[in-house]
Amino acid sequence: TVKWGLIGASTIARQFVISAIRAQPNSEIAAVMSSSPERATSYAKENGIPLAVSTLDELLGSDIDAVYISTTNELHLEQALAAIMARKHVLCEKPLALTSADARRMVAAAKAAGIVLGTNHHLRNAGSHRAMREAIAAGRIGKPIAARVFHSVYLPENLQGWRITRPEAGGGVVLDITVHDADTLRFVLGDDPLEVSAFTQTAGMAGGGLEDGAMCIWRFKSGTIAQSHEGFTTKFAGTGFEVHGSEGSLIAKDVMTQKPIGSVLLRTAKGEEELSFDREDLYTRSLRQFHAAIRGEGQPSATGEDGIWSLTSAEAALQSARSGKAVAVDPKL
Ligand code: NDP
Repeated sequence: TVKWGLIGASTIARQFVISAIRAQPNSEIAAVMSSSPERATSYAKENGIPLAVSTLDELLGSDIDAVYISTTNELHLEQALAAIMARKHVLCEKPLALTSADARRMVAAAKAAGIVLGTNHHLRNAGSHRAMREAIAAGRIGKPIAARVFHSVYLPENLQGWRITRPEAGGGVVLDITVHDADTLRFVLGDDPLEVSAFTQTAGMAGGGLEDGAMCIWRFKSGTIAQSHEGFTTKFAGTGFEVHGSEGSLIAKDVMTQKPIGSVLLRTAKGEEELSFDREDLYTRSLRQFHAAIRGEGQPSATGEDGIWSLTSAEAALQSARSGKAVAVDPKL
């Protein structure tokens, strides 16, 4: 049995990850840690978790094998390093840390300790994105030329907190959503970004100097170029992911989401074909891969290195927006 400790009494754990852990055979949630003892107790009660604690030492000293870190972003580094020291496997939310240098420290520590470290980039687990990746790898669109990611949403009211008010907690749409888009582009294209040029905006929601909208242009190693749009303020935009190649186009709608929904259309000289894909819950698949990695079978769906790549990409986008220049994406791996 894999016994999990939750670091962070978060919304994402409550909405998706607790049930994904419980969907695995031989798996249980043994403890939850919140910085507030009252919130730890109420969260544990509401979610049927036997132990509630309010310090990291208590959590790491309890009978657990793995931790899921879903606190605000500035806390991930210290919590992950402590968990690794205590020899617990770590599934960490994105962004892994506030800087790529810190993310590299986490990955190096996990490697040195022989601990599994995964980044919870859920979109890699979506059947839609996996179908697109397979279609591209199988040559169904010929040579990829350009990609477009539409991932500007409306941040739900219950999440209009630290993301739009606290720069020191790693708020802002780039660390929140651009990291996912950078990772999904790498995954679907099977390619790595070389450089990015970005504009950001504050369109009425975020304060504290944080951005709530971003448009990025990426150049990949193979020569493919891509654009991605991330936002917190557009209520009616819808989401999508397109890849256009020399022999065909993949057009996916409603796929930049936490749910296994949406559609993927392949358009070629032969006409249009809806690709069918697996509709498994994204987080359940992520947890299954993570459990397999603990058993020594393969890797988490997104590794620590993937988390370094996505954070380096987001960092470069922010630097580009500040400087007005294209910035190289170099994860130093
Ligand atoms: P929340 O704001 O729900 O939780 C973050 C922290 O805020 C919690 O750890 C908790 O601290 C504190 N908190 C939560 N509710 C309250 C409250 N009512 N009053 C005071 N403090 C509260 O964040 P999210 O769940 O949205 O995000 C957490 C992490 O997960 C982030 O790193 C984010 O980037 C990532 N994320 C990833 C997603 C994915 O699909 N991969 C989706 C959404 C988020 P404490 O633990 O001390 O109680």
